[in-house]
Amino acid sequence: MKPSDKHKSALNEVSGIISPNKTHQSSIDKIKIKRSKKIDSTTLINGIKKGDISLLSKGITLIESTNSSHKKLAGEIIKSCLPLSGNSIRIGITGVPGVGKSTFIESFGTLLTQNGKKVAVLAVDPSSSVNKGSILGDKTRMESLIKNPNVYIRPSASGDNLGGVTKKTRESIILCEAAGFDIILIETVGVGQSETAVHSMVDFFLLLKLAGAGDELQGIKRGIIEMADSIVINKADGDMKKVAELAKNAFRNALHLFPPKENEWTPEVLTCSALQNEGIAEIWELIKSYIQLTKSNKSFNKKRQEQEIFWLYDTINEQLKSQFYNNPKVKKELNQQLQLLEKKKTTPYEVASLLLRFK
Ligand code: GDP
Repeated sequence: MKPSDKHKSALNEVSGIISPNKTHQSSIDKIKIKRSKKIDSTTLINGIKKGDISLLSKGITLIESTNSSHKKLAGEIIKSCLPLSGNSIRIGITGVPGVGKSTFIESFGTLLTQNGKKVAVLAVDPSSSVNKGSILGDKTRMESLIKNPNVYIRPSASGDNLGGVTKKTRESIILCEAAGFDIILIETVGVGQSETAVHSMVDFFLLLKLAGAGDELQGIKRGIIEMADSIVINKADGDMKKVAELAKNAFRNALHLFPPKENEWTPEVLTCSALQNEGIAEIWELIKSYIQLTKSNKSFNKKRQEQEIFWLYDTINEQLKSQFYNNPKVKKELNQQLQLLEKKKTTPYEVASLLLRFK
């Protein structure tokens, strides 16, 4: 039998021609070396400190990585960047999907750069880990801002839990500050726990709202109003302009019912049209007056110190929790106890005290 008959099958292919060498071997080798070359921490740190955006991105990617060697490198970078951090103004922006957060950031961010500021936009979006897709920090939603050389937009960090996501964001803030960004905008969806986490990492917390039909105050969580340093009613344009003014007054009246803040700041209600770029400069003026007041009465630094303490306890709690649930003894016993609990042979309290004895 001829060798050609032996493999006769529809899947057989005739040997083709050898494709010509389009790329020179030396170039291929160079690319290979470049790709395989692991970037060292000194190069990364120096690059970040010089404001190199691509190295800043690499640094944040390391922070987000779960790989243990990446974590170690990320730890070194954060430590070196820490002395250069803390000099920015950190602004949290929250609101329900569709309220106009990205449109607002686009127009507000542009104004800030016109004022000579370098702006970083980060997002805290715990839903992205559930939906496997981010609803925040999506670069395509901020088309002109993304092209601005003084702006860095980082799509939302993802993770299994809010604790992990917020830790990554806090560490990303440090890197952005070391890279010379003087305004950090942190966007989050005003649903769930994320706004509480964001509130505890920013200097100024801005709540974006839409004007409704006079029922503004219903369905809005008291906690989020208490956290807000300003409520801004967006989409105050066209037919909605008048309604937005009414909503502004309703919110102003409602805010008067809250006890005054310890830092002597009275939260202000404003209206704006992010789309038409109206009222945006007034918001920046308001934030500047807030910074001026809180810096002069020393509450600015006090708040940052309180936030550090909050994050210290938060980190301890997170780590204790993860150590506990990852303990093989706990895992095994928990499974058995859950079955007993189902059969009503034990109580949640009994199970908890039994499991908490494991070290
Ligand atoms: P996000 O989900 O909160 O980020 O909201 P987007 O910024 O994506 O905006 C949602 C929709 O509202 C988009 O269609 C925007 O064009 C529109 N929008 C945002 N701001 C304004 C505004 O000030 N006025 C009007 N009329 N529409 C706006």
